[in-house]
Amino acid sequence: MNYRLLIPSMIALVITASPLANAQFFGDPPDETHPWAKHDHNRPQPPRVEPAKKIGDPPSDAIVLFDGTEESFKKNWSHERKNRKTDWLVVDGALQSMRGAGYIRTKSEFGDCQLHVEWSAPTKAQGTGQGRGNSGVFLMGEAEVQVLDNYNNPTYADGTAGALYGVMPPMVNPLRSPSEWQSYDIVFRRPIVKDGELVDEGSITVFVNGVLVQDSVPLEGGGGYRKRTHPKDLGDVGPLRLQDHGNPVQFRNIWYREIRKRPSDGGTDGRLSKEATAAKRAENAIRMAEAAKELEGKEKMHKLLESLVYQNRPDVYMEALEMTNAFVAEIKAAPDKVDIRKKDVVDAYRAVKYMSDHKLLPKPMPALQELEQIMVDKDWKKGK
Ligand code: MG
Repeated sequence: MNYRLLIPSMIALVITASPLANAQFFGDPPDETHPWAKHDHNRPQPPRVEPAKKIGDPPSDAIVLFDGTEESFKKNWSHERKNRKTDWLVVDGALQSMRGAGYIRTKSEFGDCQLHVEWSAPTKAQGTGQGRGNSGVFLMGEAEVQVLDNYNNPTYADGTAGALYGVMPPMVNPLRSPSEWQSYDIVFRRPIVKDGELVDEGSITVFVNGVLVQDSVPLEGGGGYRKRTHPKDLGDVGPLRLQDHGNPVQFRNIWYREIRKRPSDGGTDGRLSKEATAAKRAENAIRMAEAAKELEGKEKMHKLLESLVYQNRPDVYMEALEMTNAFVAEIKAAPDKVDIRKKDVVDAYRAVKYMSDHKLLPKPMPALQELEQIMVDKDWKKGK
């Protein structure tokens, strides 16, 4: 390859290169269970979500299940009970449970989520224990986060507001009085079954009025009345259900967001299985090698080295070796221009040194010694 022909385009690339064009690896490289380096510039940016102006309102990626309108109720919910004398009502922007109307459920089904629900118990507190302001929010149709007017109304602990009903009481009771709105923010993780084996029984995290009451509590099958439930498969998705327990509890502002999958559920970020890590690293390596084809000169050399950080592919190594050697030869051929190429030399040195330090090169790269010698001669190693 005649490297000199590439110099004009290299100059253009140096001028126009984005800050990330030469991804600088400076943290530990990918390993058997981590497909990305520490502080990897190639790791995808988190997608942008516009938060709501008011905390508790749906952010831009939320799926709204009830926005206060009759239309939203009809569109998103259905009654479960066929022969009922009454329906749930939309009253002043709130969805109200009606005695005898039975449970309602969402028409759409989903699994892991962040769920927001607000509810209010009847202002005039009536009944005691489980009979006062009782309803419930059932994730995937089964795991009930208890809704109950427990402001001044004790009952069995695993049936109080914010309990995973029948499984785990809330840590504390942060309820407001029945005349006020209460908020639930829930993070739900469904059980994961692989090859017939339950590898994760799922968990639930609940904030009541902003106060943490459940922290990654195992589902134990979801709860239920009197009979102890045990970890089980709930499937991939299920409806959200709201309970009619005979009390006119109101709901508003109901929305959820899908959330990042866990590695046990096919998630592709974080600490992964060896197989998933190898697959992701290969994917990254190929993407870098493909991107290198569109580049020239120094940019191409760096992109090829980046590819090798994820996976050692002999053809990529040979090309990176050839380009690095050519770069060093070019620098050495014009000693009077070395100073104006300082950044290029330092970048190349750091890249190859990183590869060498982390044993990412299949064999020693002689260019490293040559670059190191230039760095020493020029006194450029100080202060990195
Ligand atoms: Mg209930």
